[in-house]
Amino acid sequence: MHTFTAEVSRIQDLTHDVREIELRLLEPSSITFKPGQFVSFEVPKEGQPRPVTRPYSIASPPGQAARILLVLNLVQGGPGSSYLFGLREGERTSFKGPAGAFYLRDDGGRDLLFVATGTGIAPLRSMILAQLERGESRSVTLFWGLRSQRDLYWQEELMALSADHPNFSSVTTLSKPDPGWEGANGRVTALIEARVSSVGNLAVYLCGGSGMIKDLTTRLNAKGLCPIYREKYYD
Ligand SMILES: Cc1cc2nc3c(=O)[nH]c(=O)nc-3n(C[C@H](O)[C@H](O)[C@H](O)COP(=O)(O)OP(=O)(O)OC[C@H]3O[C@@H](n4cnc5c(N)ncnc54)[C@H](O)[C@@H]3O)c2cc1C
Repeated sequence: MHTFTAEVSRIQDLTHDVREIELRLLEPSSITFKPGQFVSFEVPKEGQPRPVTRPYSIASPPGQAARILLVLNLVQGGPGSSYLFGLREGERTSFKGPAGAFYLRDDGGRDLLFVATGTGIAPLRSMILAQLERGESRSVTLFWGLRSQRDLYWQEELMALSADHPNFSSVTTLSKPDPGWEGANGRVTALIEARVSSVGNLAVYLCGGSGMIKDLTTRLNAKGLCPIYREKYYD
């Protein structure tokens, strides 16, 4: 694990509460990591003498080693997300990393099933881009759960990836869609229940809140045996 200093090279608001932050590495000037790993920031917390540590997954693929992309939602009053949302373009920051055991494995050519809720998409984006760059033919499927239309982002990118890679498909489901939504609706767990009949040839990656991870692990286990890798963002 290294300590990196970086400059905020780009900030983009993706929704009302989700922001993309690109960091250009200064020292060291590049990072080696496995797709799915995270970096950690030490941030001040009101009323506490010492900083607290908050991890954020790298959303960009490892092939892009001089810059990393983070995507996060603002948690009101939360020290980690408030610190990162407070950064401005051109400002410097530092973080430690890479770390984490939630990374893309080979798994003997099993088809890949990725499931995210909310910003749990971050490490999965890195894995999906890295996997598709390899040019293998195994199937790669993403199921992504968000709340409503105003929470949608990265949909054009996913459509472009599906168009470019016949082995990739993605479904975004909304748990509380406003009227007019013609896509999938309901929780991601229900979507998997309906669309995944057998897990025998799958390797599964789950990332997001603990409710989804716990529920899906139980449901997938009931369907059979397969490797399931999990990254829990919060309880
Ligand atoms: C390995 C790892 C990687 C992570 N990567 C990312 C990432 O790429 N993007 C990202 O947005 N978050 C990510 N998280 C969550 C992140 O580390 C922080 O927990 C989150 O930003 C909230 O931190 P905070 O200090 O602002 O608020 P806290 O004071 O820590 O949290 C306040 C409350 O908000 C809840 N909460 C935490 N995260 C969320 C969330 N995302 N949505 C809704 N409620 C939440 C917590 O349960 C807590 O009760 C990751 C967590 C882990 C463990």
